[in-house]
Amino acid sequence: MSEQSTFQYRPESDFHRRSHFDFIKRALPGIYLYIAAWPILFLWTGFHEKHPFISGIFGFGFISISLLRLMHTQMTESHYDDNRFAWQYGLYILVLAHAGFWGALFYFANFDPRFAVIVTPVNLVIAGIASASMISLIPIYWLAQVYVALLLVPTGVASAFTNGMWQLCLIILIYWLYLIFIGRRFHKEYVRAFEIEKALFTKTVELEQQSITDRLTKAFNRLHFDQYLQEQWHKAVNEQQGISLLILDVDHFKKINDQFGHLVGDHCLQHATHLISQCAEKLKAPVFRYGGEEFVVLVNSEHSASVEQLTENILNAFRETPYQEGQIHHPMTISIGVCQLIASTKLTVETLLKEADDALYLAKQRGRNRAEFSQFSQGIKA
Ligand code: GH3
Ligand code: MG
Ligand code: MG
Repeated sequence: MSEQSTFQYRPESDFHRRSHFDFIKRALPGIYLYIAAWPILFLWTGFHEKHPFISGIFGFGFISISLLRLMHTQMTESHYDDNRFAWQYGLYILVLAHAGFWGALFYFANFDPRFAVIVTPVNLVIAGIASASMISLIPIYWLAQVYVALLLVPTGVASAFTNGMWQLCLIILIYWLYLIFIGRRFHKEYVRAFEIEKALFTKTVELEQQSITDRLTKAFNRLHFDQYLQEQWHKAVNEQQGISLLILDVDHFKKINDQFGHLVGDHCLQHATHLISQCAEKLKAPVFRYGGEEFVVLVNSEHSASVEQLTENILNAFRETPYQEGQIHHPMTISIGVCQLIASTKLTVETLLKEADDALYLAKQRGRNRAEFSQFSQGIKA
């Protein structure tokens, strides 16, 4: 599976990690909007000409926090895993600083006569920002709620204690309550969507795994072998590399079935898979159940030189470790046909299979419990 960026969604990751990344992505358009909002509110209205100092403070506040937040967002990929704690608190401080500036502007616009010229656009912007923030910041529920509270509450409280401002207080209160409830709803839906997505991903991985696994032995199945062999063959042809195929067939397996029943036979096949896998693991070679009591192992060029040792190890493992059920030992031996060749466009994958199969046939003919190498083997070992 290809390496994924940490910034991308990784379904196996925990909810907090996912919610942090979602938060960052959802908040990004808002940060650009905040940078644009300052000139619209302060420059277009001519406010800055009358009150350059106040305009400067708000301009500096909005733009510098926005730039810091953009930097913080940029640093997510590289720093999140290294120092999640600092990343998290950096985010909280910057986001709440933004909310504080907006809350202060909302307050001054309504209570400081110098701001009278921008009161209507500020109130409109605050209404828009409050609802947009509740939607976009909802992956971190408490932060979205605190953000909106910082925006609305100072002005709401101030208007409650100011004569003739009760209408504003009431509007803010109703609007705030509405946002609290809608925020709760959004968050529940967000969590549910995450859980469904995660369950779906887990199921997909499980089904993908099942589709390439043999149910009885848990080795890879024939379907996967066919695909894997094609892939490896093309790779080996492109790189003009060696490739080694082992076909393994349990000797006289039918006798075990006939003598002890198919269930014991099944257990013997599981045991055989275990023995082969243990040996193949050292070469990082996958084991496939080719069919019935036959298996295949594919070894890449890196380990070509160790194939002979691998066959010896497998033969010895079978000789030394019979399957035991209760008091009864079920000795098994195995025959192995090997083909090793340098892949090239002059050959086909069928050559590889046929040569290994012929070598297996020879191993059976020569008395079983042994490995035979096809003539192509010489090419690779030279
Ligand atoms: P040889 O040494 O020539 O390979 O002899 P053999 O008896 O192993 O070969 P043969 O092809 O005659 O028999 C293979 C047997 O494997 C027959 C079949 O019933 C059994 N078999 C195939 N798949 C399974 C399975 O999933 N479970 C069990 N218990 N037996 C299986
Ligand atoms: Mg067979
Ligand atoms: Mg057999």
